[in-house]
Amino acid sequence: MKIAVFSTKIYDREYFEKYGKDKTFDFSFFETSLGTATVNLSKGFDAVCVFVNDRLDKDTIEGLASMGVKLIALRCAGFNNVDLETAKKNNIKVVRVPAYSPQAVAEHAMALILTLNRKTHKAYNRVREGNFSLNRLIGFNLYEKSIGIIGTGKIGAAFCRIALGFGSKVIAYDKYSSEDLKNLGVEYRSLQEVLELSDILSLHCPLTPETKHIIDAAALATMKKGVMIINTSRGALINTRDILDALKEEKVGYLGIDVYEQEENLFYKDLSESIIPDDLILRLNSFPNVLITAHQAYFTKEAMKEITQTTLNNIRSFEKGEALENEIS
Ligand code: NAD
Repeated sequence: MKIAVFSTKIYDREYFEKYGKDKTFDFSFFETSLGTATVNLSKGFDAVCVFVNDRLDKDTIEGLASMGVKLIALRCAGFNNVDLETAKKNNIKVVRVPAYSPQAVAEHAMALILTLNRKTHKAYNRVREGNFSLNRLIGFNLYEKSIGIIGTGKIGAAFCRIALGFGSKVIAYDKYSSEDLKNLGVEYRSLQEVLELSDILSLHCPLTPETKHIIDAAALATMKKGVMIINTSRGALINTRDILDALKEEKVGYLGIDVYEQEENLFYKDLSESIIPDDLILRLNSFPNVLITAHQAYFTKEAMKEITQTTLNNIRSFEKGEALENEIS
């Protein structure tokens, strides 16, 4: 099978070459993302392999169909960027990697908390420059603080276990509570109570119409002054303008985000020599108590291995005409 891999970075290629060695697939790697402007690159391929910021809208999928592409293999779990209806109409199968490593994302959420709290990023730079002062580096103990979690699915549950390990009081809101987590000491509360009681709030629910801007001015108003907010889920869970106001008013004491509502035009690109076309992220970056990473919470060796192997298995099942375990229909 001939497969066009879009949005390829060096590390994607490394993993495909490592784990795809014994397979019969013929991969071509493209750095560009897939969309209407680049769909012609798919000519002569049986399948396309894509990631979170490729745009598989109606026109792109019709373009793929006219070139004989039969399979879209997503290297991620989310599929909000794919027009499934058009894919179905054109008899193109869509497969994904439903879960790779919840621990990777949960551990990154804790890394954001510890960095913001203990300011290790600042201490590192200071000491390298010969500044051994501790001024303004003071943090707080996580022990016995209340950590609130919205969404206790695979990632939220892994994060609950980490937070419990620090001796924190873990409170959570989810539409469905987990008996396992309750037995470990997680206390389920209403959304409002979690907002009101948390010293640190970590978001782990999916982005849906219901959760869009779940952290907005109204929610922020009910939270503790100086609260730390962590988002490793999806950018649009937070209303960026509202959180900017809350940072200015010092209502929010710390913000750690791995995702950003307008990340599509920024993340995974090296814009260090460019003019950044986004005033909101520049304003966020101007706060000393804001830490931003560019959607890297998933990025561990274990997760990359899982993503690659599942993608290869998905393509192999398609090639062999087997049932597609990870098909999105
Ligand atoms: P999951 O489906 O296992 O868990 C999601 C949980 O959220 C479920 O328990 C569900 O009941 C709950 N939920 C749904 N709607 C809710 C609502 N309105 N209020 C409260 N809880 C609600 O998903 P997961 O694997 O734990 O992933 C969670 C999210 O993490 C994903 O949706 C994705 O956006 C994000 N993610 C980020 C990265 C990254 O690299 N930053 C990587 C993978 C996933």
